[in-house]
Amino acid sequence: MAENREILLSIRHLTMEYQPNRRLFEKKKPSVKAVSDVSLDIYSGETFGVVGESGCGKTTLGKCIVRLLKPTEGELLFRDDEEMKDLLKLDRKTSFALRRKIQIVFQDPYASLNPVHTIREAFDEPMRVHGIGGGSREKRTQMIADALKRVNLQPEYMYRYPHEFSGGQRQRICVAKALVMEPKLIICDEPVSALDVSIQAQLLNLMRRLQRETGVTFFFIAHDLSVVQYMSDRIAVMYLGNIVELADSEALYAHPMHPYTQALLSAVPVPVLHEKKERIVLKGDVPSPMNPPTGCPFHPRCAHCMERCKREKPILQEDMEGHLVACHLYREKE
Ligand code: SF4
Repeated sequence: MAENREILLSIRHLTMEYQPNRRLFEKKKPSVKAVSDVSLDIYSGETFGVVGESGCGKTTLGKCIVRLLKPTEGELLFRDDEEMKDLLKLDRKTSFALRRKIQIVFQDPYASLNPVHTIREAFDEPMRVHGIGGGSREKRTQMIADALKRVNLQPEYMYRYPHEFSGGQRQRICVAKALVMEPKLIICDEPVSALDVSIQAQLLNLMRRLQRETGVTFFFIAHDLSVVQYMSDRIAVMYLGNIVELADSEALYAHPMHPYTQALLSAVPVPVLHEKKERIVLKGDVPSPMNPPTGCPFHPRCAHCMERCKREKPILQEDMEGHLVACHLYREKE
């Protein structure tokens, strides 16, 4: 289904490596690969979910796409004027022009807005810098009012300060602030995890409606599998900086293939009375990314680990149509 759709962003062999800080005379520490050789395509108008435990590299991947971090290697090919442009190799002018087309909504709605700026000021500055509203202050004010109405807030709220709003209202303001820039892609980095459950549902429904109305594409990062399932058309599961499984949302939840995905899904509560699922408890902790395991990154915790898994890293390959998995269990021995 997705293959016939237009690719908006093509991530090619993206790697993000950090060199940890060291004190004077301290020996050089090994680098940390937060994202390791990730390749995937995101289609226009879809919600692409990324799920995994804390520290798996999902937020780092999102920050690389929005260019808050500069990847060590790889390409970020973004569709603009029917042309795929590498976001990492643009001249300053094109890079600036494309910035507004990729927006981000952060996890913490309290830290996302400057407390000394009114909502209007917070919206207005990036709009003015990018020439949105054709340089007219009145037009920008009207656009801000419309954006607030779209997220079910009163237009007069633009003259208030962030502390006058609840967490849920602030996150709606952040979504409106991203949308007013008329983006093609919004990176949603755990946008509901800091909110109460009842407010989470409201915001998720609002985001789905806004996507239907505007056609914007979401790159939706979360650790809560139920939230990701509800929001996403396709989902990638990340473990220790690698994508270990990628499939349509329905297929992934109905037939998880990778042992890590199976363990994650076994921990999701079932909303059916008296129905019980067998929980797969993983042994050990997530290994340190400073000293990742050889071969398959999941092998020290995998109940199906074979000798081959300890020396050979499995490649993410299509096993069924549109369902990719990185695991030797599904490959013939070469
Ligand atoms: Fe487990 Fe081997 Fe598959 Fe890795 S490659 S998930 S260790 S079976």
